[in-house]
Amino acid sequence: MSDTDGKKPLGLKGARPGNVKQSFSHGRTKNVVVETKRKRVVVPKPGAANAPAPNASPRASDPSKRPAGISDAEMERRMKALQAAKEQEAADAARRAAEEKEQAERRERRRAEAEAKEQAEKEREDALRQKAEDEAAKKREAEEAKTRAAAPAPDPAAAAPALSGPRGGGKAAPTPSRRDRDDDRNKGNKGRNDDARRSGKLTLNQALRGGEGGRQKSMAAMKRKQERARQKAMGGTVEREKVIRDVQLPEAIVVSELANRMSERVADVVKALMTNGLMVTQTQTIDADTAELIIEEFGHNVVRVSDSDVEDVIQTVEDDDTNLQSRPPVITVMGHVDHGKTSVLDAIRNARVVAGEAGGITQHIGAYQVEQGGQILTFLDTPGHAAFTSMRARGAQVTDIVVLVVAADDAVMPQTIEAIAHAKAAEVPMIVAINKIDLPAANPDKVRTDLLQHEVIVEKMSGEVQDVEVSAISGQGLDELLEAIALQAEILELKANPDRAATGAVIEAQLDVGRGPVATVLVQTGTLKQGDIFVVGEQWGRVRAMENDQGKRVKEAGPSVPVEVLGLNGTPEAGDVLNVVETEAQAREIAEYREKAAKDKRAAAGAATTLEQLMANAKADENVSEMPIVVKADVQGSAEAIVQAMEKIGNDEVRVRVLHSGVGAITESDIGLAEASGAPVFGFNVRANAPARNSANQKGIEIRYYSVIYDLVDDVKQAASGLLSAEIKETFIGYAKIQEVFKVTGVGKVAGCLVTEGVARRSAGVRLLRDNVVIHEGTLKTLKRFKDEVPEVISGQECGMAFENYDDIRPDDVIEIFTREEVERSLT
Ligand code: GDP
Repeated sequence: MSDTDGKKPLGLKGARPGNVKQSFSHGRTKNVVVETKRKRVVVPKPGAANAPAPNASPRASDPSKRPAGISDAEMERRMKALQAAKEQEAADAARRAAEEKEQAERRERRRAEAEAKEQAEKEREDALRQKAEDEAAKKREAEEAKTRAAAPAPDPAAAAPALSGPRGGGKAAPTPSRRDRDDDRNKGNKGRNDDARRSGKLTLNQALRGGEGGRQKSMAAMKRKQERARQKAMGGTVEREKVIRDVQLPEAIVVSELANRMSERVADVVKALMTNGLMVTQTQTIDADTAELIIEEFGHNVVRVSDSDVEDVIQTVEDDDTNLQSRPPVITVMGHVDHGKTSVLDAIRNARVVAGEAGGITQHIGAYQVEQGGQILTFLDTPGHAAFTSMRARGAQVTDIVVLVVAADDAVMPQTIEAIAHAKAAEVPMIVAINKIDLPAANPDKVRTDLLQHEVIVEKMSGEVQDVEVSAISGQGLDELLEAIALQAEILELKANPDRAATGAVIEAQLDVGRGPVATVLVQTGTLKQGDIFVVGEQWGRVRAMENDQGKRVKEAGPSVPVEVLGLNGTPEAGDVLNVVETEAQAREIAEYREKAAKDKRAAAGAATTLEQLMANAKADENVSEMPIVVKADVQGSAEAIVQAMEKIGNDEVRVRVLHSGVGAITESDIGLAEASGAPVFGFNVRANAPARNSANQKGIEIRYYSVIYDLVDDVKQAASGLLSAEIKETFIGYAKIQEVFKVTGVGKVAGCLVTEGVARRSAGVRLLRDNVVIHEGTLKTLKRFKDEVPEVISGQECGMAFENYDDIRPDDVIEIFTREEVERSLT
């Protein structure tokens, strides 16, 4: 019988008629005035008394039985009590509203998929109503009980209004509103939802959710309802009038976007997809074929567009002639192996690098610039056809001029012919550099006549192709070669607009230890600036830093300037095109879209190849077999080179198919792929990470590591021709992890290691791995256990190791210990 919640001591002592104290679950109590309908204007004073219930209630409960002698003062007090009770009621109502709000919120959260939810919500509402009714019933019971308990009450009838509900005439408590709501609910479920939405209640929820979606949805729902009602009224069908739309359909589309383009409800689209057996959410992407089915199902017209709209944000404006400025030519050196491509490139670089060397080792970034008579020339430092063709295959035509290197002592060879074909196919002008002119056996004229057979008529043979005799070794003729290039460039009148968002092409990309993915990008148009957001192939990023060909930090790079770009989220591939876009969201969207498209394409191509090739092989020759392989390498260049080499291997009986090639450690997914096709995995200067290693062991997938491309190619060749003979095989005998690095005078850096697997052996070969990439290979200078030099340290023990002639060791590097032995080959 204490004050309800100590909030407002009302000051009325003892029992007063007209006031009932009620007890509820959860320890809530409240005072309810069940005063009779006697009108009297009373101004309640603040701090008015909270009348304890028992006496009040029975007295007030029945006006007819109220003692006639009740004084005005008494009445006033009662009215005060009534006022207080009203306040109490308001507080309770607020609490209840909060509770309801909470419940509604919970409900809203579960409203993820509108259709499915509606049912659940209905049930919930029912439950809620039931609960409310229960509560009301309980309350009534409690009231009743209390009334009975407060026996001396002279006004038993006073309880009646409460019992019979608010309409019984009581000004009483919260019951009316509750009952009204219940009545509303009983009007019918359909109406209820919409009514509820229109009511303040849902608005509050929406406000709390802070989302715009709910409101829009409810508006849309209302509109639809109105529309339906209108049509019904007009005697039309309930179905609304169908507007048939032309729906632009890219190769892949997000469900919500598809709904948007059809002007259909997302929920309907999701439902349609489900009926078609596709369980997707509105944020998922579906392919064009599925989308087409859905579009047709909804009765709209499909307009297939070749590329996704997301790519549209990439600026494709044609440059005005007035904006164009001349740019340096980009030169690729091609030719047969050993004819001196690398030597020529090196000779030019060493002799003519712009502004000279900047402090020691020149940063190798896959391209460099030289100056010739005031003109800058950009050389792609990736000799060979692989880079050229793979770039062209990806749509990056970066080369303006091809320098065809032919050794004067050797004449035209198969790869020379190939290079000519490439240059012609790309419609790139050629300059012939007849190399090794210093050699006594040099016969430049033979080269010239040889070339005639391949429709390359050099100037000396009265043709139009410039030819220069050079020697990469002696440097003879290099100036003439550069002049010839400059002249050719002049004729080409190469131009680009530097004042626009940059586009460029990836010359080379790799996963750099410490710096993350880095890409050498040749800017083609516009100017690439630090901070620019870009998308490149299936990757995107923001230019964190740029280094030029001399390893110097630069803030921007204009047309034909090669730069190394840092700040990518992944490693792109050589030939990928870089586009600067405005926002990160755009960049990400495009990258994601491309990734998906590429994945789908690969999947499709993979399936097709398998099927078609199997069929073709079966038809053509039952003996032709295919040797699938997976290749992972440390840099893109190596990966490309290996893939190109693999494609050339093959005879009538066997062909090599590279299932996948990539940059970085061998991962579980590589193993999965290899397993699916029964392929071995080749690691070039990379290692499998621990999960991949375990998985490979379990599945019996062979992983082979190489550090010389030739060895790898040779092994595959041998395997392909069934000539596997005994070989020198490496066996890993142990792994150690570097925990600390010490400097020891006289010895240099010593790694404090823990042998994590197998044994560390002094006499064995060692490799230093950083992030599963081979950094160094060599032998140990020392293997120490405590102070002593030991021959072996076993797993679980700590030891000190130092490399012979190698010092760049860091904590967390892994040392791989291996032995070499001669074994039978066992390529899968
Ligand atoms: P690439 O395979 O085309 O890149 O050829 P390289 O640049 O690796 O050269 C192959 C070999 O030819 C190397 O041993 C070079 O030293 C040698 N070589 C390259 N250019 C010349 C040259 O002008 N004169 C002589 N005598 N040897 C050269």
